[in-house]
Order: sequence, then C-alpha cells, then structure tokens
Amino acid sequence: MTQNAPVTVAYGDGIGPEIMTATLNILEKAGAKLAIETIEIGEKVYKRGIASGIEDSAWESLSRTKCFLKAPITTPQGGGFKSLNVTVRKSMALFANIRPCVSYHPFVRTTQPTMDMVIVRENEEDLYAGIEHRQTDNVMQCLKLISETGSERIIRYAFEYARAHGRKKVTCISKDNIMKMTDGLFHRVFDRVGAEYPELEKNHMIVDIGAAKIAAAPHIFDVVVTENLYGDIISDIAAEVSGSVGLCGSSNIGQHGAMFEAIHGSAPDIAGQGIANPSGLLHAAVLMLHHLGQGDVADKIHNAWLKTIEDGVHTGDVFSPQFSKKRANTQEFADAVIERLGEMPLHFKPATAAESKQPAIRMPTISLPKPADKTLHGVDVFMHWRDARPVDALATEMKALSNSLKLASIDSRGLLVWPDSAAKAENGDHWRCRFVAANDGDKITHAQIAQLLQALAEAGLDFIKTENLYYFDGQRGFTVAQGQ
Ligand code: NAD
Repeated sequence: MTQNAPVTVAYGDGIGPEIMTATLNILEKAGAKLAIETIEIGEKVYKRGIASGIEDSAWESLSRTKCFLKAPITTPQGGGFKSLNVTVRKSMALFANIRPCVSYHPFVRTTQPTMDMVIVRENEEDLYAGIEHRQTDNVMQCLKLISETGSERIIRYAFEYARAHGRKKVTCISKDNIMKMTDGLFHRVFDRVGAEYPELEKNHMIVDIGAAKIAAAPHIFDVVVTENLYGDIISDIAAEVSGSVGLCGSSNIGQHGAMFEAIHGSAPDIAGQGIANPSGLLHAAVLMLHHLGQGDVADKIHNAWLKTIEDGVHTGDVFSPQFSKKRANTQEFADAVIERLGEMPLHFKPATAAESKQPAIRMPTISLPKPADKTLHGVDVFMHWRDARPVDALATEMKALSNSLKLASIDSRGLLVWPDSAAKAENGDHWRCRFVAANDGDKITHAQIAQLLQALAEAGLDFIKTENLYYFDGQRGFTVAQGQ
C-alpha cells in the first residue's frame, strides 16, 4: 500500500483559499495519499513585517516535505517586500519551470484549437538574478548572467522531459543574433546536448518571431526550452491564447524539491465570491501526483476534469452560451469533477496508465566546464564623466593617465565614439574606456590594471566599474563595440 506522501500546502491570498479547498476536496475523493502540512504565506505574513512573506517554521515544513502545493498570493505593492515566488524558487533550487499549455476546443472558446505545447523555462539565472545598479545620473544597469551549467541543466531536463512524455520536437528560443555570448552559449549548449537525442526533432527560433508564432500558430510547437525572462513572457502568451489563465498549472522542479501552482495570481477582483476556476491549481495538483508516483490518481482526476469540461460544466471565466451548458461556481465545479471520478472523456484523449507509467525524468547531473587557458589582454573601465567638452577631452585625460597601457577605444552604451567614429557622441555621462597592452595582442597583468585605477582615483575621476578582457584557449571572451 502506498504511504501517504508528505506535502506542504499554502492556501495563499485572494481566491487562493477557495480554489485550494476545492482542489484538496477533489484530491481526497479521488484517493490521493497525502500527508498534508499547512503553512501560512503571503499577505498576512508580509503584514506582520516579514519582508520575505514566509516564516522560518514554514521553511522547516518545506525542507521536511520537499513538495509544495501553493495557491497564489498577493504581492504587496511598494518597496521593501521581496517576491515570495522568486525566494522559494531560489531557496529550493527549483531550476525548471514547466508549463503545459493545452487548448480544449471545441468545449472552451479559443482561437487556437490544436494547441498542445509545454514550455520549459530556466528558473534561477538570467536577468532575474536581481543584480542591478545605478551607475551614473543617467544610467541603470541590470546584469544578465547565463552559465554553461545552468543552460545545460535546463536543456537536458527539456530533452529528458520530451523523451519521457513521448514528445517529438524541442524548440530552443533565444536572442543570440544580438546577445552573441550569453544567448549564444544557451544556443550552443542546446545544439551540443540535442545531438544526444537523435530521435527528437530540434530547431531554434529568435525570441521575437518565436513569441509571434506562439500567439498566432502555437500548434507548430511541442516542447520549448528557453531562458528565464523569455520563458516568463512567452508562457503567459501561450496560456492566454489557450483559452483562460484560469486553466493552466505549472511545476517548478529542482534536484531536491518541487513546487506546484496555478499560473494565475490571487485575482482580488473576484476573491470571496466563490466563482473562481479551480482548474489551474487542480492541474498543478495533477502534475504533483505524477511527481509523487501517484499517476493512477492523477489520471483519474484528469479524466474526470476533461469529462466535466466536455459536459459543458464551466466556471464563469470560460463560460460562453455557445459552448457551455451550466455556469458553475467553484464548489459546483469541484462537485461536478468529483461526480465524474472514474468516468472517461469521450472527445478528448484520456490520460492513460501507459502514459502514467512513463519512465521518471532523469535529473541531469552537471559539472563545471573544464578550466581553459585564460589570459588577460585588457580592461574596460566604465566612467561616470559629465563634461561640456566633447568626448575627445576624456580620451586626452585617459591617455595621459594610462601608464603602461594603451587607450584603445571609448564607447557610449556599446556605440563606438572614439577614435575615428562615424557615430556622433550625444551628451552622455556613461563611457566605457577600453585599455589594452601597449603592443597590440600582448598580455597585461592585474597589477597594471590596479596602477591604472590608482592613477584615475588620484586624478579625481569616477570609475564606476571594470571588466577584465580575457581570452579563453585563444578565443576572445568579450565583444567589441558597435562600429569597432
Ligand atoms: P491575476 O492572474 O490574479 O488576475 C488576472 C485576471 O484573471 C483577473 O481578471 C482575474 O479575475 C482573472 N483570473 C485569474 N485567475 C482566475 C481564476 N482561477 N478563475 C477566474 N478568473 C481568474 O493577475 P493580477 O490581477 O495581475 O494579480 C493579482 C495579484 O496576484 C497580484 O498581487 C500579483 O502580484 C499576484 N500574482 C501572484 C502569482 C503567484 O502567486 N504565483 C502569480 C501572478 C500574480
């Protein structure tokens, strides 16, 4: 007999308690074997002055169960509060965010009747690392960090997911025509890892056309793997075109834990009315039951849910006189699913035991790339320099202070402005001065960089940041400015 699986449950804010009660009721009636620990997160906790929105006792439960079924929470407006979702994802090392987006034509109104795609989104790095700085009066910076290990982990997971679920194609989405190093790495790792999955079709799309195609022709996609920011944007597009944000669930998977939630928020506009659609959270719970090895219960619930949708029992968000027979509130919808436990859908393909018994997804083990021969050839010094004189005056000052190094170029936010530039420098305050060895191609030392910075400091110049210019195994590890 299956032991009760420990699960941490949070009822959340807004419609959270209504849809969680409905979901747990269905799970119980379907025979899910769960040992539930309830924690409090979100608005009430924030209001007690806890900036993370989660108390230490709740972490204890999560570290014990390693499985989290979470209702949506309301993120307070204003400074000081941290996003609980990002905190939980990072603290539990949930590197993969999986969002299946399916349309339920002809029972739920959608412009995309044959959509059945899964978005696998990297969850831990990219611009979401939250490393931001104000550098000058005029310029803010947000660092985009993409690692080979982070890329490989999510890409391997996507291929393993596709294989385990009998999917046929994996599409990589990036913007490597512009971000040649960060997104270029992601794309290269996709090509390298993809070669190990010869049975799967593979392709790559630039994010702009990729997003447009997801909105207009989502049926051409099967599994999509992408970086954090692009994944955030395209998965909302996909959910929206599938019919309603109230329908989709998601899983967040890590090496040592997992979190399951609806993709929508706490819907304060309809909270307390008992009319919210519990389907997104129920789908998340179905994903959780698969994760816990209770695939038979997951299928039973999924099939009853499909039959309910086919029978035209719909909550207000998907109700339409043309397609629906009964407008159900949250409780009535849950009761309709419970009544149909054990029934099979007639139109939709039922979830089957064969699919439930699919091999578990192999969690990728990733190691750091082997160390390269790394040589230092220069330094970019970013300057906060605000002066009525043209940028030539900055060049003159920098050349005079460059000691054993040589000023090679100055650019303004990536656009070359010195020397001999066709671009006219506009009145800015943020300049990148590139220094290299006096003899082109020679190596430089960290001590030479320290001497340069010392000279700039003594001259009262404000250097805001430096980036070293390395070669790795003879390959340039940095880009050149536009126009260089
Ligand atoms: P939302 O997803 O809560 O609501 C958007 C619209 O969709 C609303 O009109 C709402 O009524 C409707 N809707 C959402 N879920 C529904 C459901 N299950 N049934 C029927 N209708 C549904 O987005 P929002 O209004 O931008 O955000 C509200 C709050 O939720 C904010 O505080 C936001 O920060 C938070 N939020 C939390 C999460 C999360 O906890 N994972 C995710 C997104 C937003």
